Amino acid sequence: MPLIEIRNLRHVYHAGTADAVVALDGISLTVDRGEFVAIVGGNGSGKSTLAKHLNALLLPTEGEVFVDGMNTRDRGALWEIRQRVGMVFQNPDNQLVATVVEEDVAFGPENLGLPPAEIVARVDEALRVVEMAEYRQHEPHLLSGGQKQRVAIAGILAMRPQCLVLDEATTMLDPQGQREVMETIQRLNRDGVTVIHITHAMEEAVQCPRVIVLADGRVALDGPPAEVFSRVEELERFRLVLPPIPALAHRLRRDGLPIPEGILYVEELAGALTRLVAEGAGRGRAGDGTH
Ligand code: ADP
Ligand code: MG
Repeated sequence: MPLIEIRNLRHVYHAGTADAVVALDGISLTVDRGEFVAIVGGNGSGKSTLAKHLNALLLPTEGEVFVDGMNTRDRGALWEIRQRVGMVFQNPDNQLVATVVEEDVAFGPENLGLPPAEIVARVDEALRVVEMAEYRQHEPHLLSGGQKQRVAIAGILAMRPQCLVLDEATTMLDPQGQREVMETIQRLNRDGVTVIHITHAMEEAVQCPRVIVLADGRVALDGPPAEVFSRVEELERFRLVLPPIPALAHRLRRDGLPIPEGILYVEELAGALTRLVAEGAGRGRAGDGTH
């Protein structure tokens, strides 16, 4: 059984009124346990609406969403579903509630009604995992954006979710904060947490084994980054900017250089160019008759 299964999901805001907005228009997809999925798409493509369906913050207008086999329409399963899927949002300041880091992280497990010793153990572990243990007595509002977001993630982790959904959790951060959060969620994924990372940053999407592109409330592309980022014309149509290295590789190919498809990283492009130059030099020597 997949961790997340979405069948023909439609979401219409203000359905049946003159202000009706079709935000999701027939989404079907599954996410297996342990996956690391990026979701990208232009503004208004439906990313946040989709995220909110993953822990029943919204319910389908049509279609079904299953989390660990539980239908999000099943009110009796709401608590279980919210336990499975933790959400991290864009603005860390809206997610931190306490005046001391460790109290903030304890907030979730306290609400679960866990015994105090268990809460302490979970807070310790969660802060260690996001590498914020030494800040446990600090005031959250004095931390950097990246640190705040890591504390927010720790607060979710303390509830031991199977899946972490991040809705543009790196968008407001500086490059250092973005790196910290990316490294944190990669580490969590290696430890078995399923990660769904909604992001504007194509450099981040490139690092995810699966990339889903949303456009107009539909899944436009879904595959490994090497495949998705070689669909240049479609991505341009969806007004998505290619990540820098695939963009350069595409440009060189368009200008006539035989650069292979599916290049994502500097090393791959450098290797391809070096081979081309070496071959060119070889031909040059063969042609001038002096060797
Ligand atoms: P994204 O996160 O990709 O920017 P959203 O899911 O926020 O997209 O929005 C998808 C569409 O739904 C947009 O057209 C947006 O204007 C609309 N929308 C989002 N939230 C609401 C809401 N609460 N009420 C009405 N329309 C909304
Ligand atoms: Mg959004």
